[in-house]
Parts: sequence; structure tokens; C-alpha cells
Amino acid sequence: MPAKVNLQLGVGPIRDDGYHDLVNVFHAVSLFDEVTVEPAPELEVRVQAAPYSRVRVDGVPVDGDNLAAKAAGIVAARLGVEPRVAIRIRKAIPVAGGMAGGSADAAATLIACARLWDDRSQAVAGDQPALTRDDLMELGAELGSDVPFAVLGGTAVGVGRGERLTPALTRGTFHWVFATADGGLSTPAVYAECDRIRAEMGEAAAPPRVSEGLMTALATGDVQGLGAALTNDLQEAALSLRPSLAEVLDTGLGFGAIGALVSGSGPTCAFLAETEAEAVELAESMDGAGVAEQVLRAHGPVPGAAAL
Ligand code: ATP
Repeated sequence: MPAKVNLQLGVGPIRDDGYHDLVNVFHAVSLFDEVTVEPAPELEVRVQAAPYSRVRVDGVPVDGDNLAAKAAGIVAARLGVEPRVAIRIRKAIPVAGGMAGGSADAAATLIACARLWDDRSQAVAGDQPALTRDDLMELGAELGSDVPFAVLGGTAVGVGRGERLTPALTRGTFHWVFATADGGLSTPAVYAECDRIRAEMGEAAAPPRVSEGLMTALATGDVQGLGAALTNDLQEAALSLRPSLAEVLDTGLGFGAIGALVSGSGPTCAFLAETEAEAVELAESMDGAGVAEQVLRAHGPVPGAAAL
């Protein structure tokens, strides 16, 4: 199940329920966590870094707080079974990096558990499963606003808290370089900082709107247009909490990236390259510059979580 980058993250005013109204253009990229779910005497979670990946997993919970464990619980409750599974997660998506790794693991677990506990999944082809992909997206929304997109994949526009999704028309493949940072950023802390900056500036946030320029660039496969249209309303807050990210963004742009932004609530920074070959070159240059903990390459869009 893939990681995501937000091509547009528009943050509106804070609502009465404490959430912000969002316009969120999600884009799934080819960085994958692998999740295995097997029947077990009781719910158990194990987390390790994927082979060849340098993801730090020490902060990831291995109890009921893990989003994957919560996903198993929610499917079990819905199907009226006990969540007796061993969940094994091999992480390649940076933790607390703004790439929705936890949501990806939750999406994978939703799909795997639904498959495991659905009696009828073994039945004749053509039978409806007990839980459809739409059902799983709905259950996912209870776990977090990024989870439904991790089930859906591709490129999609989310509104509300980000969980009401419409697939976006895209053409071709886009090539990305990601620069990870030492230590994550807490998503709630970044939203709080965004609110603080706005209050200090006396700015009332306008309701966010989907960028027409972005939608056109995606639909026509216009890489330059996409680079110019990337926006993230949380970027200023992420830079305020982690000033070193400004240098990371400048470094990538200096090496010829045609667009750069903080991914979601950060601290991972995303850079768009014109071609795959240029992404390879950009990744090598970024690596050499030593401004990132790790430099990763990926392409998008890719499909959402799938059971293998
Ligand atoms: P988002 O972009 O959705 O805000 P993120 O990429 O910034 O998410 P995650 O890697 O999803 O952040 O994890 C955020 C926190 O959630 C972690 O610090 C960890 O404590 C907790 N968490 C719970 N389950 C998981 C999981 N399966 N993988 C990673 N983190 C998890």
C-alpha cells in the first residue's frame, strides 16, 4: 500500500468540531509498506523496517494504538468476529513524515481482514464480498481522514476533513524525489502552528478551493504546470517548526526540481522532476548535498492498497 503526497493542501478556517475544512489533492506514489495478516490466538502487531530501507520504526506503537490494529478491530466489529490476527508491517514509508504511512498500513489491514473474515470471499466468482471497497473506505474514515484515500489510491480530490473523495483525471506518470528528515513532525502540532501564525497575522482563512491550474496540469500530463501548481497551506507552519526545511527545499530547486513542497504536515519534502532520468540525477545531487536524512525516488499515480 502506497504513500501519498499532497499536490494541494488547502486549509480553511477551523470548524466548530475542531477540524479544518480542507481541500486535499492526494497523489499515491510508489513507496510501499508491506502488511501481512494471519490468524493468531490474539491480536498482535510487529513492525520492522523493510529490507534495504532505513526507516526508523522505534516510535511506531506495537499495541492497540497502531492504526493497523485499530483497522483490524473495526473490521472485526463490523463482521461480528474477534480480531484475532497477527499483523506484520514492513515499513518503507517514512514514519511521521507527512506521507500517511500509518494510514497506508490501516488501509492494507482493512482489506486483508475483510478478505480473511469474509466467508463468501472463497465462494463462486461474481459473489459480492461482505465489505466492498466503498464500505472499507467508509470504515477507514473512522480511523483517520487519510485512510480512505490509501484504500482508493491514484490521484483524488478530498474535501471536508479530506475524506470525501473524487478521483481526479490524470495523464501519464510523474517522477518524484523525497527528502526525509531526522525526526517526524506531529500533524496536530503543525495545524496548531498554522492556526497560531494566522491568528498572529490577523488573517481569517478563506474556504479553500480546488486549484483549476492543478487539475488542468494533471489532466493533460503537463509536468511544468504541475510543478508550478503545487501548494501546501501547512508549509509555512512546518517551516516555522522546522526552519531547516527551507534549505532542503532551496537545495532541490537549485538542483533543477521543477516544483517543491513540504509533503502534508512534513517534514518530508517532495520534489517533482521532469523525467525519470532527471529524478535519478536530482536524487543523486540531493544525496550528495547531505541536507536530508534519506533521499527516495518514486513515481505516481499508483493504485491504492491491494491484497496479494
Ligand atoms: P499523515 O501524513 O497522515 O499525517 P504521517 O505520515 O505524518 O501521517 P504516520 O507515519 O502515519 O505519520 O504516523 C504518525 C504517528 O502515528 C506515528 O508517530 C506513530 O506514533 C503513529 N502510528 C500508529 N500506527 C502507525 C503505523 N502503522 N505506522 C506508522 N505510524 C503509526
